[in-house]
Amino acid sequence: KKILVCRETDPRETRVALIPDDIKRLISMGYEVKVTRGAGEKSGFNDEAYEKAGAVLVSSNEAGYEGSEIILRIMKPESIQGVPSGALHLSYLDPFNEKELLNEFAKSGVQAVSLEMIPRTTLAQKMDVQSSQTSLAGYTAVVNAAAKLPKILPMMVTPSGTIQPARVFIIGVGVAGLQAIATAKRLGARVDAFDTRPVVEEQVKSLGASFVKIDLGEMGQTDQGYAKELTPEQIAKQQEAQAKVCERSDIVITTAKVFGRKAPRLIGKDVLDRMKKGAVVVDMAVSTGGNVEGSKLFEDVVTENGVTIMCGDMLERQVPYDASKMLSGNFYAFLTHFYDKESKELVVNLEDEIMRGCLLTQGGQIIHERFKNN
Ligand code: NAD
Repeated sequence: KKILVCRETDPRETRVALIPDDIKRLISMGYEVKVTRGAGEKSGFNDEAYEKAGAVLVSSNEAGYEGSEIILRIMKPESIQGVPSGALHLSYLDPFNEKELLNEFAKSGVQAVSLEMIPRTTLAQKMDVQSSQTSLAGYTAVVNAAAKLPKILPMMVTPSGTIQPARVFIIGVGVAGLQAIATAKRLGARVDAFDTRPVVEEQVKSLGASFVKIDLGEMGQTDQGYAKELTPEQIAKQQEAQAKVCERSDIVITTAKVFGRKAPRLIGKDVLDRMKKGAVVVDMAVSTGGNVEGSKLFEDVVTENGVTIMCGDMLERQVPYDASKMLSGNFYAFLTHFYDKESKELVVNLEDEIMRGCLLTQGGQIIHERFKNN
């Protein structure tokens, strides 16, 4: 089977889908691998390292498409012209918003896998790109906020005086939130956290943070573990209860998302107005509408009263070496999970729950239940 590792086309992207070490392992299994020149440059993996691992370098993604049976990239493609019919294409696809792209994939006979649709199950965990990347983003959010804050995070008792620990509030305790809690704790902060999924309380406590109790009536999670959408009344109640915690916090990190929907607005201008001067808010839901009023994609905003709202989108791109290593591990796990050793073929097995969950197009059609009739 012939794999192509594409160079990402978004100038903001820093990561690469496969690193040389994993390519070496795939080649020893029987795969052939092509890599577009410069694909790993920003993440610290140069062309020579790829060649040394046994990959063949091609000058552009387009030049590499011909004869490729598996195409790997991170972000959704701008165009799929030239991708061979029948090829298996793996990338993020933003499928809830990219109807046209899905139709294009279907029309061209490409089998498109959407990384965001890989099931959140124990079996699929090693290929779960969402988890590997948002966990790094949660870490980076705290590090960025700490660097911006005019205070230190830990308590310090010194002859020059005593410094109280900074207070950090994490809203939304999924993968990113848990890593943010752990990072803030490691840096010595006092951490509060809240999530609408009641099961999270135990996890928050086990990390040494306090769980903010807010009674919103019926809350819960879907069978995939995602939060259910709240009613406007529940959100209003949540905003009010959180306001007090925000006021006393030095750093607030919001990660609240609802899968396939717009993110809930949780911190309004009224709350920002009451926060401390110098406080830092990181909005990690900014690309899906934002949890914080006034947050901007790729830009930091300072409010009139001196609160900095930082963009928390795709923070994993700031640690491209480790992000690529983990992504590559995820792709490697996918490529080995579906590999049949005897025929030396990758089998697109729709009886497998993971494949059924993330394969959106096949045989000229959109086949995924969720997007079929959109
Ligand atoms: P996500 O990015 O969709 O959302 C982040 C968090 O925001 C979630 O914890 C969600 O409950 C929370 N949230 C939503 N609305 C909120 C609101 N109004 N106020 C406060 N918080 C709110 O979540 P994720 O990190 O992708 O995780 C989704 C689920 O998948 C979780 O249950 C996680 O444990 C699970 N998961 C399981 C596995 C596995 O079993 N292998 C792996 C990864 C994730």
